[in-house]
Amino acid sequence: MILALETSCDDTCAAVVTRDARVLANVISSQEVHDAYGGVVPEIASRHHLELMNLVVDDALARAGATLDDIEAVAVTRGPGLTGALLVGLATAKAIAVARGLPLIPVDHLQGHVAANFLHGDAGPPLEPPFVCLVASGGHSFVARVDDHHSFTVLGRTLDDAAGEALDKGARLLGLPFPGGPHIERVAADGDPAAFAFPLAHGVPGLDMSFAGLKTSLLYTVRDLDAAGGAGAAARTADLAASYQQAVVDQLARRVERALEQTGLDRLAIGGGVAANGPLRERLGTCASVVHVPARALCTDNAAMIGAAALHQPSADPADVPALDVYATDRRAL
Ligand code: ATP
Ligand code: FE
Repeated sequence: MILALETSCDDTCAAVVTRDARVLANVISSQEVHDAYGGVVPEIASRHHLELMNLVVDDALARAGATLDDIEAVAVTRGPGLTGALLVGLATAKAIAVARGLPLIPVDHLQGHVAANFLHGDAGPPLEPPFVCLVASGGHSFVARVDDHHSFTVLGRTLDDAAGEALDKGARLLGLPFPGGPHIERVAADGDPAAFAFPLAHGVPGLDMSFAGLKTSLLYTVRDLDAAGGAGAAARTADLAASYQQAVVDQLARRVERALEQTGLDRLAIGGGVAANGPLRERLGTCASVVHVPARALCTDNAAMIGAAALHQPSADPADVPALDVYATDRRAL
């Protein structure tokens, strides 16, 4: 069994994953304290990780029916993410590994989002490479070619905002709570996706994407509706949310379709928080012969995906463990 920890943003997560990629426990403690600020406050996030981490680890072990004696390795997210938040997970993982004489496996968070597809779950058995993978999350959005279990090649990525960031900022413009993605999805269910025509970034070449113009377009649409008098944009929230969501889904799906075409691969996987979105899951469901859609809880941040990635990564040299550091930004040339 591997004990995996993930604290890259505002969720304190611990999971127990078996060597054959089964999830025995996947505990996620979301810090609702940030909602009042309309975004994650890094310093508050790390303090809460500190308070929650040991409880979450104990809970994961209890749910797995295990103790630390059953654990063979400790996996942890090293980056990218919020430095202070990552440090809590890494320090905890180091402490457990050193105290118990266990190997420590540092994992890249984005590799983790891809690796959610390497677990047994609602989507069936693990998906074997090669496949195309869309990762759309709060800080990153890219389409990658996955040829093995421990790496991926980015084929196209956002040139500005991430898809999740666009949904979060869009939600804010519509007066919806943070994080915006799930709220936009909820409100959009009662709206008309064709009510407003938002830009789809057709001008962006190849497999790259852009969401900044979309956000600006929503800002101007809301302003115009408010300036027109009457109930203004507030009366059209459902239509605005549905059309905005549709524009995000459409752009992501078009890039995925192009990537499948370009690579000649007929197998698709998805990951990252935005991959929890119902209309996106539905739209991508028919894009390829094999479409692997992990359970929603494996798309948004969780530690089981970190454990899944760790199954295919080397452990750190024990001599290097004390000095092992976190990294805040993506190390690939994204
Ligand atoms: P990164 O993985 O890039 O470091 P992150 O870890 O903060 O960023 P995730 O937790 O993977 O991001 O994803 C969070 C994002 O997913 C947020 O932007 C959130 O709005 C979005 N999201 C979550 N659920 C949904 C949903 N149902 N529909 C659309 N977006 C969603
Ligand atoms: Fe993430």
